[in-house]
Amino acid sequence: MTRTVIIGGGLAGGAAAARLASLGAAPLLLERETAAHDKICGEFLSVEAGAHLSALGFDVARLGGARIDRVRLHAGHRSAEAKLPFTATGITRRSLDWALLEHAERRGAEVRRGTAVRRIADGEAVLADGSIGGRLLLATGKHEVRGQPRDTRGTIADLIGFKTFFRATPVLARSLSGAVAVTVFDGGYAGLQCVEGGRLNLCLLIDRHRFRDLGGTWASLFTALLREPGLAALADAEMLLPRPLTISAVPYGFLVRPRADDPLWRLGDQAAVIPSFCGDGMAMALHGGRLAADMVDAGATAAAFQARLRQDVARQVRLATTLQRLAGSRIGRFGLIAGLGAAPGALAALARWTRVTPGAVARATAPA
Ligand SMILES: Cc1cc2nc3c(=O)[nH]c(=O)nc-3n(C[C@H](O)[C@H](O)[C@H](O)COP(=O)(O)OP(=O)(O)OC[C@H]3O[C@@H](n4cnc5c(N)ncnc54)[C@H](O)[C@@H]3O)c2cc1C
Repeated sequence: MTRTVIIGGGLAGGAAAARLASLGAAPLLLERETAAHDKICGEFLSVEAGAHLSALGFDVARLGGARIDRVRLHAGHRSAEAKLPFTATGITRRSLDWALLEHAERRGAEVRRGTAVRRIADGEAVLADGSIGGRLLLATGKHEVRGQPRDTRGTIADLIGFKTFFRATPVLARSLSGAVAVTVFDGGYAGLQCVEGGRLNLCLLIDRHRFRDLGGTWASLFTALLREPGLAALADAEMLLPRPLTISAVPYGFLVRPRADDPLWRLGDQAAVIPSFCGDGMAMALHGGRLAADMVDAGATAAAFQARLRQDVARQVRLATTLQRLAGSRIGRFGLIAGLGAAPGALAALARWTRVTPGAVARATAPA
């Protein structure tokens, strides 16, 4: 029987490995990092992501995340707040991703850490010291693997991302208790929320031209952010990383096109990239990982899997990408805030429409 080889041990790869192992398939997972590490992410774990993790037998509550059930939107001095139609969790990727890999191992997956795939050639994963063949599941997230570029035409790829942690001051802990605060500013947006251990996650995206106009350094950007009413209180908080994590050229709005002649199974951000403000990228990664495992087990083809995954996530990705484009212009931004402030329920509805649907989650997490 063909062995399944999963490339990348983030949430998509971890979910696929855990599920395949539970089905008795003993997959091999290759992860280039050797130890748990911080990842650039807002760390807003949606209810759908939580449902996927529990269906994998993974108890996320034991990691001690922060409960989030409200969203607050700031644009200059305007703001709108809504109760989320679900409860989410603020949890670091450092804890979550590593714990999921350990969970997959306990279920019977073989996990090789510190193993980077250099390229994919002739249907094999090429390593520093040889190559491995099998059914390849590509789950390398934002990172491309040589030989497998994504066609990112038409996506929003001119944003730079930053992420850091702060120690919560009493004022910030009170104001953010149970809430994720999203500040939309000229050229970008920032999310601020609690995660485990009394820390705050600040994660933001900014247009690269705007970043350059502000001085082109983290220090100049942070000074500008502190002028935003929604972020001003960070001036009194201690920053916990020596320098922020950064990322650029994430292709927001990317959706892989299924091809009958392509044997590679693409999961997570390799299959679809939803704008970060939705906080559902992790759920989509887990969803794809789980679905891939079930379809491998059922003997499906890679193309059938890609078509099914696309069916589950394309609408959400397109809507969120349109909203992100709207928020990128000054008029669109203020129209959005005015509209959301005037229509109670609109913010919650948008939060619902940009997520994997409950039906798709239920289908994917139903016991085998
Ligand atoms: C700025 C920003 C903020 C975000 N905020 C949120 C949020 O708040 N909530 C949310 O749900 N989603 C959020 N997302 C989206 C979310 O982070 C991604 O959708 C999700 O991490 C995708 O999971 P993945 O498993 O596909 O990839 P990843 O989590 O990126 O994992 C990929 C793994 O592959 C490994 N790897 C890479 N290359 C190789 C190689 N060549 N060989 C072996 N291993 C390799 C990496 O080390 C990594 O562990 C955000 C994204 C960004 C950019």
